[in-house]
Amino acid sequence: MQPFIHIDVEQLGEALAQLAPNARPLAGGTDLLPLIKEGLIAPERLINLKALAALRAIRVDEAGLSIGALTTLAELEQHPDVRRHWTALAEAAALSASPQLRNMATLGGNLLQQARCWYYRGDFHCWLKGGTHCHARDGRNDVHAIFEQSPCVAVYPSDPPVALLALDAEVQIVGAQGERRLSVAELLQAPSERRRALHTLADDELIVGVRVPRTGGRSHYLKAMDRAVWAYALVSVAVAAEIDQGAARNVRIVLGGVANSPLRATSAEALVEGRAIDAALAHQAGEAAIAAATPLTHNRYKLALTRNLVAQALLDLVAGGA
Ligand SMILES: Cc1cc2nc3c(=O)[nH]c(=O)nc-3n(C[C@H](O)[C@H](O)[C@H](O)COP(=O)(O)OP(=O)(O)OC[C@H]3O[C@@H](n4cnc5c(N)ncnc54)[C@H](O)[C@@H]3O)c2cc1C
Ligand code: SF4
Repeated sequence: MQPFIHIDVEQLGEALAQLAPNARPLAGGTDLLPLIKEGLIAPERLINLKALAALRAIRVDEAGLSIGALTTLAELEQHPDVRRHWTALAEAAALSASPQLRNMATLGGNLLQQARCWYYRGDFHCWLKGGTHCHARDGRNDVHAIFEQSPCVAVYPSDPPVALLALDAEVQIVGAQGERRLSVAELLQAPSERRRALHTLADDELIVGVRVPRTGGRSHYLKAMDRAVWAYALVSVAVAAEIDQGAARNVRIVLGGVANSPLRATSAEALVEGRAIDAALAHQAGEAAIAAATPLTHNRYKLALTRNLVAQALLDLVAGGA
């Protein structure tokens, strides 16, 4: 492991001044430190953000919810207003990792979690690391993408951002160029030839918070795992809608664990928009959600999983169980 300098900062300005391509912000460290220990990245300095108390807060007002980037997943999971009004987000946080990890893991770090592909985490100089070849495409791809977005078939691994996309959240960013706000879809994008990463944040930028609007609607998050707890999503689904005289309006259906980024199932959304959701319509929506899928050799099972999870999430939502 390459030696690095550890810098504690107490003000946001100090943190911004330290940002550079050879530096990395350190939040909970649950992803960053394993990547360093495994020799996958070798920053020369770590900028410890933990003392930036202003970034560790959950605030609720008339217009919505503000979440500081250093808020832990445990704090999100347990917050009564988040559980009540932004249910999918609390559920997604509660279904992430283990209780110990959720006490450390922050929302900012969770948004930027690196791919969990076993080739990427191993000794393979694969395409996402800057190589020429995706080893998973013709290799072990059981947990990989069923929607083609780039030469890489790794799935975006984090749960809470899938719910944040369904809830129309905005990510608040500060950097050398000032402040900007990005939708979750703008921040979390499939990699490209020029940007081999699952996000679009620049090296000289920090995530400072996330803003989630208040709606009169409900939301719900479901996650299929290969064991009951402490596992990444094989497939997950976040749904959000307002139920108006029995009809679903402003419907969002977002898939996790199936693509390089959380993916809106827009044809399924269009199918149920303005209609009363019953079992038949929910299953049609599940079919619509997988219509454009192109599974790999070992992950066809994700088709049925996605279809059924979408249907179940919609039925749970209208039953008000969410
Ligand atoms: C065994 C295990 C199981 C897991 N299971 C799940 C799961 O089921 N679901 C799930 O969603 N996650 C899961 N995780 C991932 C975990 O949730 C993430 O590692 C965690 O959320 C990252 O947050 P952190 O604060 O520890 O980030 P760090 O590890 O500190 O940082 C992660 C990355 O984000 C950058 N960063 C951190 N904060 C900021 C900021 N404010 N601005 C800019 N850059 C920043 C860091 O430089 C680094 O590149 C699991 C992790 C482990 C180890
Ligand atoms: S899926 Fe992506 S991360 Fe995995 S081997 Fe292929 S290029 Fe690398």
